[in-house]
Amino acid sequence: MTTAQISEPADRTLERNEVNKAFHWNVENLYPSWESWNEDFNKWGRESSQPHWPELATFQETWKQSPENLKALIELCCTIDRNLSKLYTYAHLRHDEDVAEETAKKAYSRIVTLHYAFRQETAWIEPELLQLSEDKLSALLQSPVLKDYALYLEKIVRLKAHTLPAAEEKLLAMAGKSLETASQAFGALNNADLKFPPVTDGKGNVRELTHGKYLLYLRDKDRMLREGAFKNLHNTFLSYENTLCELLSGQVQRHLLEVQARNYNSCVEAALFPNQIDTKVYMSLIQAVRAHLPALHRYMHLRKEAMGLDKLHLYDLHVPLVRQVEMGMPYEEATKVIIASVSVLGEDYQRALNQGLTKDRWVDRYENARKRSGAYSSGCYDSMPYILMNYHGTFNDVMTLTHEAGHSMHSFLSRSHQPYHYSQYSIFVAEVASTFHEELLLRYLLSQVKTKEQKAFLINQKLDDMRATLLRQTMFAEFELKMHEWAEQGIPMTPALLKKEYRKLNEEYFGPDVHVDQEADIEWARIPHFYYNFYVYQYATGISAAHALVDKVLSGGDKARDAYLAFLASGSSKYPIDTLKLAGVDMQTSEPVEAAMRHFNELVTQLDELLH
Ligand SMILES: [Zn+2]
Repeated sequence: MTTAQISEPADRTLERNEVNKAFHWNVENLYPSWESWNEDFNKWGRESSQPHWPELATFQETWKQSPENLKALIELCCTIDRNLSKLYTYAHLRHDEDVAEETAKKAYSRIVTLHYAFRQETAWIEPELLQLSEDKLSALLQSPVLKDYALYLEKIVRLKAHTLPAAEEKLLAMAGKSLETASQAFGALNNADLKFPPVTDGKGNVRELTHGKYLLYLRDKDRMLREGAFKNLHNTFLSYENTLCELLSGQVQRHLLEVQARNYNSCVEAALFPNQIDTKVYMSLIQAVRAHLPALHRYMHLRKEAMGLDKLHLYDLHVPLVRQVEMGMPYEEATKVIIASVSVLGEDYQRALNQGLTKDRWVDRYENARKRSGAYSSGCYDSMPYILMNYHGTFNDVMTLTHEAGHSMHSFLSRSHQPYHYSQYSIFVAEVASTFHEELLLRYLLSQVKTKEQKAFLINQKLDDMRATLLRQTMFAEFELKMHEWAEQGIPMTPALLKKEYRKLNEEYFGPDVHVDQEADIEWARIPHFYYNFYVYQYATGISAAHALVDKVLSGGDKARDAYLAFLASGSSKYPIDTLKLAGVDMQTSEPVEAAMRHFNELVTQLDELLH
């Protein structure tokens, strides 16, 4: 760390042991110490024995004999998986507290290795199951003994056309860990190794630049600080453009390998198929957003005018347009506001959330040196939800906290209402509860405000949020699709090609009032989500579904609320499109996306009126 150059002591990032323990997440609840983790690891992992779980192999002879045996096999798998995921959760939380800390790093790597071993030792099950005749399969699916696993089995059976013979499946499982290299290397570079040069602000102070501080600086009214942060960050990525291009290309090739090995038509189809989501949902999202891009162009024009700028740069997009209003708050106050904002979901919901955020220590609140950047909600079937935050007290942090708390409540309810094998909700619905929380908080705050300025501030925040979640993520989705199409067509990815495509998208999305800075051409190199295999579009479909559901719940009384809560408690006990239908929204039509974009356009009009 370049402490000597930092002229503001308050800017120094604290070491973890300098942060009050009351603000750390409650990992002791999972394991009191590394010793007890190790004990559990030895019990479930049996690292030194080969195979690790011989009792799994014994089923290879017997599972076909009766539905009871198959049931016993499934239950054994679930028990091992459940315990491994508990071990994994602890190791990854501890690893993220300080990504350079050796004990956690080693433990994390050990449990990841073990997880692959588990996948290898169970890799025979699905192909063997799929080798059964149609008659036998349908008899199994209808067996009363396997009633509790009917959908679980159905999800496997529908993969029949994309499952390989047992030996080939085993080979793919063996390659699993090495296929993670691109994504792991990107994570190590991005979270630990990359250092950004400090930035000089408008007053001549030298400010430390970290991931955690980057977005904070971009929201600062000091334009020199914003510009410096934007340029220093992107230029750092630019200096590794060849490496970063190879890593991303490696990840895309990994997806392509699955497509070719498993007989899919395209990478996007392969990614969406397991959740029974039609590629039409993806394409129509892009189409619907593109059709409404003039709404974004209108907003950019309004922003340029309101900021009094000749040219709007990409580092000018995050500054609140209404500066005299400060709506940030300390953590404690934020939790009170968040609890009040979700009152439409009932007292039980409020009570559970309050307990988690203020008493049970679900949240690791503040930044410390080498802590993982950003925010997430995690946990496992046998733990409380855990939220990683880098809370600095801005309005945006309040929104992030309620967002992650939405994920946590979804997990909490699904885990408490579903058996282990249906407890994890699909990523397609994963962003619904979080965005639902954000929208409730915003509407709550809008109902409380007293001045025109505060109202304008909130609408402005909402617009920026929709730009980031709906529009930006759809742009990412387009870029991701393009990268995979290149791979499918055998077109090699180069930094020049990626930069050119990225610039084109930036120009089309932002429109004539935005100067697309050259530094932004490299932005693809710093987006962790491009390693997640068609993840980002779900932010855009998620926010659209959430908007539709908030309208329903606020106007639909107990029945609409109960339908929504039933959705939160449903885990993966139904296909994702079906659970959303039960909650009250049909994502197979483009209507929710169109409605969200129309809402965006209306908000631009409202803000225009408030600012003039
Ligand atoms: Zn989220």
